[in-house]
Amino acid sequence: MNEYDSNRIYDLAKRNGYEKTNRLEEANCYVLNTCHIREKATDKVYHDIGRLKKTFKDKKKPIVVITGCVAQAEGEILLKKERYIDAVIGPQSYHNFNNQVLEIEKKFKKLNHTDFDVIEKFDTLNLLRNSNTDISSFLTIQEGCDKFCKFCVVPYTRGAEHSRSIKELFNESKDLVDNGAREIYLLGQNVNAYNYNGKRLSHLINEISKIDKLQRIRYTTSHPNDFTDDLIEVHKDNKKLMPLLHLPIQSGSNKILKEMNRKHSVEEYLILIENLKRANPLIKFSSDFIIGYPGETEDDFNMSLKLLKKINYINTYSFNFSARPGTPAADLKKIDDSLAKKRLFIFQKLAEKIKMNYRKSLFNKKATVLFENKSKKESQFFGRDEFLNPIIVNTKNNLKGVVCEVRITDGNHNTLFGEIEKFDEKKDFAA
Ligand code: SAM
Ligand code: SF4
Repeated sequence: MNEYDSNRIYDLAKRNGYEKTNRLEEANCYVLNTCHIREKATDKVYHDIGRLKKTFKDKKKPIVVITGCVAQAEGEILLKKERYIDAVIGPQSYHNFNNQVLEIEKKFKKLNHTDFDVIEKFDTLNLLRNSNTDISSFLTIQEGCDKFCKFCVVPYTRGAEHSRSIKELFNESKDLVDNGAREIYLLGQNVNAYNYNGKRLSHLINEISKIDKLQRIRYTTSHPNDFTDDLIEVHKDNKKLMPLLHLPIQSGSNKILKEMNRKHSVEEYLILIENLKRANPLIKFSSDFIIGYPGETEDDFNMSLKLLKKINYINTYSFNFSARPGTPAADLKKIDDSLAKKRLFIFQKLAEKIKMNYRKSLFNKKATVLFENKSKKESQFFGRDEFLNPIIVNTKNNLKGVVCEVRITDGNHNTLFGEIEKFDEKKDFAA
């Protein structure tokens, strides 16, 4: 979502005459868009400002703006502690970015803008064409969260749930496809809680899939409790919806799930997985796990390992519990740090083994790949299959935006390598 926000901040800044630069020393405005989901985020801000100060030691300093959830959660402290920062702007008020920067340009006064103006934000952004040109483009459809899992900072930094209208999302999707996008990734902190005047995510997916040149649709991140039957059905009926679902569970232990306030059990989660598999037998899953949550015993941890094996997730994101200031879990007694780290190591080793076995099972098989861009080597192109596996092929052709069959020949834990089976050179997909 920060990537989507960064693109939109740039769309705004362009109106003020700013242009992107890859050369830090050339910048006259420096925007750091931050994430606050786990600790060390604030340290990273101070570290980055240190680097900036060094670069501009003998020069006029750029305007320095901190955006995103660190700005929301710790804005006032940042402004007080680091005088180099000119403004902090929260994720629900960045539509004011240009006014803020103009004020700083004129008066050089410090600004803190961290209101929750989500409706006003999207009203402003809707007037601006999304200029992103990525083959796989992000689109924020829903923001905020009303679930209040005990460990999570999102309800405090992004605010209450808000869903954008079907019409504005259809129009923005069309703009993205006109810019070259062939895949749209629908985003929300709780994406399947999407509800615009009773129209749910399933309706939005079906609407967007009417856009002719759009080949693929994905959505993330879902909460197991918001899976309505109509959404399960779309996985059966809509061929543009990709058969990989990111479905975080956080723990394989019912006791820990209850303590986290996740409001569902492992058994309910397993039933959901079965229903989704019934709707689309090809579907595969990825997930998030928090390892070493306060109160996690060896038994609880083993239940997470058991679930990891049972579902055979093709990808997992696992982290040690990180106490976020202001959340209820921050006051709980933490488990021993070295034990938490040891468990995370064991968990990630098993997750990696499962992923590698899955990747090996793809060798010598065909995959349908959407190509995105040239890879670092001139003669290679990078794309992803339907399950988001990264695939590189050797080719002299420009495959940007092309979908074609690839035979997987080799791979490692980062990338798969393949050979193109069929490519119609005359068919210009990206045009
Ligand atoms: N809404 C999604 C859900 O409920 O599954 C998750 C969104 S959250 C922004 C992304 C992931 O960050 C979570 O699934 C969780 O695993 C991780 N996360 C959030 N807070 C955390 C914390 N305090 N410590 C460790 N990991 C955390
Ligand atoms: Fe955070 Fe997701 Fe829980 Fe909402 S549902 S509080 S975003 S972990």
